[in-house]
Amino acid sequence: MPSPLTVTRFAPSPNGPLHLGHAYSAIVAHDLARNGGGRFLLRIEDIDGTRSRPELAEVFREDLAWLGLEWEEVPAQSQRLASYEAAADELKSRGLLYPCRCTRAEIAEAAVITGPEGPVYPGTCKHRNIPQGEPVQWRIDMEHALAETGPLEWVDSLAGVQQCEAMAAGDVVLVRKEAPVSYHLAATIDDAVDGVTLVTRGADLFAASHIHRVLQELLGLPVPTWHHHDLLLDETGQKLAKRKNSPSLADRRLAGEDGAALAAQLRAQNFPTGISLGRP
Ligand code: GLU
Repeated sequence: MPSPLTVTRFAPSPNGPLHLGHAYSAIVAHDLARNGGGRFLLRIEDIDGTRSRPELAEVFREDLAWLGLEWEEVPAQSQRLASYEAAADELKSRGLLYPCRCTRAEIAEAAVITGPEGPVYPGTCKHRNIPQGEPVQWRIDMEHALAETGPLEWVDSLAGVQQCEAMAAGDVVLVRKEAPVSYHLAATIDDAVDGVTLVTRGADLFAASHIHRVLQELLGLPVPTWHHHDLLLDETGQKLAKRKNSPSLADRRLAGEDGAALAAQLRAQNFPTGISLGRP
């Protein structure tokens, strides 16, 4: 029997330009797919209403082509809202989500525990009666969800078998006040719909995979393997981040730098990597 094709993806959010860390992530995913005779997908995660800049998607495509990558593009998240709403409705009808009207500031003040996603929601709204029509976000009742799923495992191709520890992040938001979905629900559904077999992304998203594993189980979705690669570091040993003034790929490209040569350097690991945020 032929082995199943490896399907990976690069899923950037167009709320800032791509930088070197993104290039590395895209190359890792691209090469894992190509080495397995598989498919490398590009998915634009453009549901961050207030920060999303649709024009950046085209810049991203130019950046990836400049690096010498080839991909198949799947529909952007903004074109898939109905599938997110359907999944959220199903989870609501099973009593797995509850409405929450707390603001970030209220949560930061009330939270006593900090989890991998920031302050862990203390459950203030779990038993609150919120009048219909009030703007709310919907949170997963993680205790209830885990009682339904029982213990779960997932596999990272670098870090090995993981016991699912979704409780650490608490009752995360699955439906935002200003959008029909949050990253966790959207990415989980999309990876299943897109047939992704190897979810490839930076180790800074390691903790999110515990949450995604629970959502897969609740929604009866196929379970991929994950590949959380190390992060590129800047000269101070910090994660390269788009907000920290690291030069964008577009700037480098427009300045005439050779993209294929840069890709070769990234493949040869000529930049410091290391941090394994979230990975045990
Ligand atoms: N859209 C996310 C980001 O740009 C990546 C999500 C993922 O790879 O799962 O950070």
